[in-house]
Amino acid sequence: SKTILLDNRPEGMPKTSDFKIIDEKTPEIKSGEILLKTNYISVDPYLRGRMRDVKSYIAPFELQQPIVSGIVAEVLETKNSNFDKGDFVTGNLSWKEEQVSTGEGLMKVDPKKAPLSAYLGILGMTGLTAYLGLTEIGKPKKGETLLVSGAAGAVGSVVGQIGKILGLRVVGIAGTDEKVALLKSEFGFDDAINYNTTENMVKAIAETCPNGVDVYFDNVGGDISDAVFFNINKKARLVICGAISVYNETEMPKSISVQPFLIKNSALMQGFIIFDFVDKYPDAMNQLGQWLGEGKLSYKETIVEGFEATPQAFIDLFKGKNKGKMIVKV
Ligand code: NDP
Repeated sequence: SKTILLDNRPEGMPKTSDFKIIDEKTPEIKSGEILLKTNYISVDPYLRGRMRDVKSYIAPFELQQPIVSGIVAEVLETKNSNFDKGDFVTGNLSWKEEQVSTGEGLMKVDPKKAPLSAYLGILGMTGLTAYLGLTEIGKPKKGETLLVSGAAGAVGSVVGQIGKILGLRVVGIAGTDEKVALLKSEFGFDDAINYNTTENMVKAIAETCPNGVDVYFDNVGGDISDAVFFNINKKARLVICGAISVYNETEMPKSISVQPFLIKNSALMQGFIIFDFVDKYPDAMNQLGQWLGEGKLSYKETIVEGFEATPQAFIDLFKGKNKGKMIVKV
């Protein structure tokens, strides 16, 4: 069966040649182990950081070793009494069509409760990041204005919808007119801005957020976020979730000096990684599940077919090819 390895550390925008697909024989399982067949692979912007050989909150990938990300897989064979043949599991697993696991760190998922791919998005890291980042750091209050960058992506589209459920005015920033339309029609955003066709972002934000920005949920960083600082309100909360616009930079990007904006507005700017909130996952999952069940929350997926398409699907995140969660169906 096939495995995808990191062949080179990417310079700038990753290329498919930075990855290598090899064929290898899957080992026999031993006592305590299970054999897994991969169904769905999550590709995520943060994996780009792990391809650099730098110290971070999570160890870098090693060259000539498989990439690891969120995966949903089926148990094909088992010598572990905690798992039955035909069970579906999710967890951080290798980019392999088949792999052996001890089951450690894996969670069983029920295809009758939700489509399997949803456990990599709305019912996985995406949903948790959106809900906990917004509520724990953004502390949104009814009637306030929430601005979301990367709004048509996996996390952003959920953040905006939660903002609407909580009674805020919600404005999104995304990269195409089609995404802008989608935000308004499907996800209930009050307004949206296409940053690729807007010359003056400071003005566009002022026009779409006439009462100023109380909560900014930032997925992208860079120039887009620089424009937001000119529009924040007194006591604004800036939730720094991601900075995809700089993940491929080879030099430290220049940005405006944000301190004066934070000072004069007594504003709070806070980064986070979702693992900070691990004790809050169960309550967050309950809330997301409830809203989904009530039809208050919807989600979109961009499904790419075929195991070998995984590196390209990952690269396409940086080109904005996805709407909602980017997932590979093996
Ligand atoms: P998305 O589904 O949002 O996919 C990435 C999107 O980013 C693209 O569709 C594209 O949309 C946009 N984008 C790509 N390049 C640029 C650019 N140069 N400038 C502006 N926008 C760009 O991914 P996720 O929802 O999975 O992740 C969103 C962000 O949240 C990422 O930054 C990620 O690292 C972060 N994250 C952080 C977590 C945490 O624990 N802090 C956990 C999970 C995610 P468009 O067409 O609009 O440009």
